[in-house]
Amino acid sequence: MEEFHVSTSRQYQVVDITAKVKEIVRKSGVKEGICLVYVPHATAAVTINESADPEVGNDLLGALAAMVPEGKWRHDRIDDNAAAHIKAAIVGPSETIPVKDGQLLLGTWQAIMLVDFDGPRRRRVAVQIQ
Ligand code: ZN
Repeated sequence: MEEFHVSTSRQYQVVDITAKVKEIVRKSGVKEGICLVYVPHATAAVTINESADPEVGNDLLGALAAMVPEGKWRHDRIDDNAAAHIKAAIVGPSETIPVKDGQLLLGTWQAIMLVDFDGPRRRRVAVQIQ
């Protein structure tokens, strides 16, 4: 398993990590298999979507903000970040991507994105290929 870190700079942020994951796939030498991308965090997530237009990521953040208002949840009494936990649970902590001919099987407009809902923080990303 390989790991790398992403330092976010804002409270809510979408970071394209596709290039890092592609490099790990290339170095692995695996030609056919599965690539798991996972964040071991309760307030960050991983998704696959378009990053060519950064407004897609901003729209995702906006939609989740509209769905999950801040400051009205029980966990806010503990550390005031319940909305971040709920959004991370909706998006989920991992994605699994097929590896074909040594390449991630991503569509033209698909990118792998880390989504931070409680930044800025240093986030870990684990990549398992087999
Ligand atoms: Zn919390």
